[in-house]
Amino acid sequence: MSMENIPAVGIDLGTTYSVIAKLDNMGRPITLVNAEGDLTTPSVALFEGNEAIVGKEALKAMAIEPMAVAECAKRDIGHKVFHKVLQNKQYPPEVIEALILNKLRRDTIPQIGNFSKVVITVPAYFDEVRRKATQDAGYMAGLDVMDIINEPTAAAVAYGYQQGFLGQGYDQPRNVMVYDLGGGTFDVTIMRIENNQFIALATDGDVQLGGYDWDQRLLDLAVDAFIREHFIDPREDEVARGRLWRECEDAKRTLTSRQKCTINCEYKGKFSRIEVTRQEFEQATLDLVDRTRFTAEQTLRTSGLSWEDIDRVLLVGGSSRMPMIRSMLQQISGKVPDAGVAADEAVAQGAALHAGLILDQNMGNPGAFQIKNVNSHSLGVIGRDPQTGRRRNGIIVPRNTQLPITARRIFKTSKQDQKSVMVQVVEGESSSPDDCTYIGQCTVTGLPPNLPPGSPIEVLFDYDPSGRLRVRVSVAGRQIETEFTRENSLSKEHLDGWRMFISQEPPTDYC
Ligand code: ADP
Ligand code: MG
Repeated sequence: MSMENIPAVGIDLGTTYSVIAKLDNMGRPITLVNAEGDLTTPSVALFEGNEAIVGKEALKAMAIEPMAVAECAKRDIGHKVFHKVLQNKQYPPEVIEALILNKLRRDTIPQIGNFSKVVITVPAYFDEVRRKATQDAGYMAGLDVMDIINEPTAAAVAYGYQQGFLGQGYDQPRNVMVYDLGGGTFDVTIMRIENNQFIALATDGDVQLGGYDWDQRLLDLAVDAFIREHFIDPREDEVARGRLWRECEDAKRTLTSRQKCTINCEYKGKFSRIEVTRQEFEQATLDLVDRTRFTAEQTLRTSGLSWEDIDRVLLVGGSSRMPMIRSMLQQISGKVPDAGVAADEAVAQGAALHAGLILDQNMGNPGAFQIKNVNSHSLGVIGRDPQTGRRRNGIIVPRNTQLPITARRIFKTSKQDQKSVMVQVVEGESSSPDDCTYIGQCTVTGLPPNLPPGSPIEVLFDYDPSGRLRVRVSVAGRQIETEFTRENSLSKEHLDGWRMFISQEPPTDYC
């Protein structure tokens, strides 16, 4: 197959919904449908025997057998196993993500031909461990992940493309705030679009905040009403709870377009039709909206800009459709938020544009645009406080630093003829390592013999443009062998096994 035939594919692997897009032969991004004919695929897997069913069917099963259904796996990414035991098995969350990706791959092959090269998006706020796990999910789904890019950046690229900012030497700088409230995560990023460059100035977010939390508030409202009437709590039963959640998620969407909704709740032969007004819903979720407002304002300050400098506020993510979000943003920014990019599709389409760029560059063509990213968490190494002897996080790359970057750190041997040095790497803002994310440890072995105590060991931390980390070590200018071991990451053998099982694709030299 010639290079030209490789489709440029981008995947938005969402917490609640996933979307796949490609570039058509004019280079325009188009969203692809799944086997059911839908543009969005619920990121939900139903485990039945040896089989996993992904998408709409699995979502429906939430109301019947929630214990066999894995939803919001993206929230657990970075952990060893998914929080729920599924048919007596515990799966790594990235395996569940791989099942979702595999469905998107399988469903679109008949439309665009066989493909493996893709760009997958991640929340800007994802730390290094979660980025690695997302790449692993792609690999297990039989894909070749060319790059991972941040969701807000992808949305800004789609916006830039739509507005005609790309490729024509359009040089009027624009500052854009991307406000992305999805199903399970919240992200806000300040982007500067200038001379075909997409430069992230600042980014922040919350991996534990999204539409799901709004669903839960509505569910609580409904349950309160039910308890007042029948004195029993349907939340105590997993199935009743699952069914009610589905009802509430639906009702929440109704409240976006109407002033009130009705929620049907049935439990133990009792039945209530509960009416909730938009005003009641907004009252019950005020603090959630406030959390996003706080983060948006904080991120703006970090970027060094003020609201007058912001040209557009881009709304991304299904939950940004809620009127309360729009009015809050309008109130703090003094601008009408822009819903011009399709909230559900912008991220996948931006990823497809980025995939097109990489494929172009692989053929030696100059790219139409460039992405400049920042790290969303500070990178540090664990050391000891000389005064107190306590373990301490020594930050070496502060957050919101432009990537790529290489940071150097000199460690000193403490003993005569020391054979090895261990460096523990964390991400996070706290000075206490226990409050940070443990990335892994790098054991430097094979130090030259007879090093006197206090010999300098130079450790280099390379953050690549997509926020992935590599560690190199040198002693007296000579690079030495290091192994970077990760805590919560699957081994190559496991990845290959899952890849065969999930996608039936043979292993490659992915590492
Ligand atoms: P993610 O990227 O996290 O998977 P999406 O951007 O696809 O999320 O958004 C999904 C969330 O958006 C869900 O919580 C869904 O309930 C919510 N949502 C979608 N449409 C609407 C709407 N019209 N009104 C309110 N919420 C909506
Ligand atoms: Mg999303």
